[in-house]
Amino acid sequence: MSRHMLRFVQILTLLKRWIMNKKKKGSRSFVVYTAIVVALIVALFAVNQLQEKKENTDKKMGEAPSIEGQPVMGDENAAVTVVEFGDFKCPTCKAWGESLWPELKKEFVDTGKVKFSHVNVLFHGEESRMASLASETILQLHPDQYWTFHKALYDAQPQNHDDTWVSEDSMLEIAKAAIPELDEQKFLDTIKADATADAVNQDISLVNKFNVQLTPTIMVNDKMIANPLDYAAIQAAIESELK
Ligand code: CA
Repeated sequence: MSRHMLRFVQILTLLKRWIMNKKKKGSRSFVVYTAIVVALIVALFAVNQLQEKKENTDKKMGEAPSIEGQPVMGDENAAVTVVEFGDFKCPTCKAWGESLWPELKKEFVDTGKVKFSHVNVLFHGEESRMASLASETILQLHPDQYWTFHKALYDAQPQNHDDTWVSEDSMLEIAKAAIPELDEQKFLDTIKADATADAVNQDISLVNKFNVQLTPTIMVNDKMIANPLDYAAIQAAIESELK
């Protein structure tokens, strides 16, 4: 049950109790009270429906997130930009990447209609930050290998995503396995020196600017998709921007 529906049911219960009370007291205005209450219920229901509709609708944000300095996959001249705000510690992001992303890539990125970018979200504390630093480091040192590392990170996420798995050591191991030409020393030095902190902070500013509340959050140009797991909604938003 949604938050709104729950509140609605609570209000209904209160009103019912109130009516029963009036009835017991034998109030002469019982009919009037009941009519008022019924009118109130109808009004509440209408407001509730409107609210739910508003929250479940894709939202125009007025501008698209800047992808300057971000990893970009696909034709840089593509008319539509899809940005995923994601967190390597987030299980839904991993699921999104495995279930929905391959289809999106095949239909829109590989065909040159969409360029795709990823912005780090740090909703899971220090581990999110370390994974973000590591991915920004790969973007800096081996930009061609960014998406390989990106996928390797999500692949490494354990079944129980609350388990601790992100550390300097694990980042190095995952990077070594994914990128044969990895400059290991430079990778470690860059992470230890916090040298990609500016890039991570730039991502945090975007998260704040667009008021990102959940991961993944998907934006199609300036439109924020209400349900990131609804492929048809993403598809429709892209098609409408392509027109
Ligand atoms: Ca970034």
